[in-house]
Amino acid sequence: MTGAGESGAGVIRTRALTKRYGSVTAVRSVDLEVRAGDRYGLLGPNGSGKTTLVRMLLGLVYATSGEIEVLGRRMPRHAREVLPQVGALIEEPAAYPHLSGRTNLALLDAAGPGGLSARRTRKRRVDEALEQVGLGGVGRRPVKAYSLGMRQRLGLAGALIRRPKLLVLDEPGNGLDPHGIRDLRELLIGLNEAGVTVFLSSHLMAEVEQLCTRVGVLDAGRLVLQDDLAALRAPTGRVMVDTPDADRAVALLDGQVERRDGDQLLVRPVVGDGAAGDAAGLNARLVEAGLRVSAIGPHQRTLEEIVLSVTGTGSDHVGESS
Ligand code: ATP
Repeated sequence: MTGAGESGAGVIRTRALTKRYGSVTAVRSVDLEVRAGDRYGLLGPNGSGKTTLVRMLLGLVYATSGEIEVLGRRMPRHAREVLPQVGALIEEPAAYPHLSGRTNLALLDAAGPGGLSARRTRKRRVDEALEQVGLGGVGRRPVKAYSLGMRQRLGLAGALIRRPKLLVLDEPGNGLDPHGIRDLRELLIGLNEAGVTVFLSSHLMAEVEQLCTRVGVLDAGRLVLQDDLAALRAPTGRVMVDTPDADRAVALLDGQVERRDGDQLLVRPVVGDGAAGDAAGLNARLVEAGLRVSAIGPHQRTLEEIVLSVTGTGSDHVGESS
């Protein structure tokens, strides 16, 4: 389900976006497509170009070539109109350590675009943002007393203070413990359902799998995959079977077993078993033959399997020049 009304409209779009640092190509010819209402997760191992891409979207790094549109306007040319509508969190958020979280947020808001005119509603927006990220009770403490997770939450509050249409977050889960990750996920889903498009980078597949509706995968600077998670995780037409009688099942299903891992079999059903992916039909056949079945169900690939199938192995790929 998409949260925003104008579902399908382009919120972030890049064409052949490329960034070179000397002989290193950090981002190569990326066509990104983030639609209104998406919760988009940009995955990639360390050094795959995520931060460089995010920074280019916000006009913080200049592209070597290619085009960027954010909220329908070319970037960085229209940064002054676009950025006030975007909440951003990149790297570890900067803050004055001796000042409180509240004061830091108020200063950030005042220094932002249109900061003076935003003054009237500032106190209410600061309170609301602190409350949203779970810092309501500690907003008056100096930031130097904050844990890493609290600082990350404060950074997120800074991204939310202007009630943006679009959130751009670089590794927002960094420094958060499992509770913090869960709170972050609930917060982002809630905001998304209220109409905010969310774009985030992460190297954690599980985080993206639980939070996002759309996924992009960077590998050595290239976008090697971009699709809706539901489409990627659609049933494959195969059936997963767990059986303590795996040897007999393999013999019975002669040629239909595509993969075996101990007691677990990946089976391609044939017409006699019912439709493709029909676990019930296959189950009936196994049980009829006197085999015990401990678990059976339609097969879906995990995000990890999908990502590994389109990327090289290991991490820290360095984009060599081409
Ligand atoms: P991480 O998760 O480690 O932050 P990342 O996916 O965000 O990684 P980037 O930080 O965008 O990746 O880096 C992509 C490539 O570009 C790397 O090879 C990196 O060394 C190189 N790179 C990034 N910034 C610069 C820079 N300012 N000067 C030179 N090379 C850079």
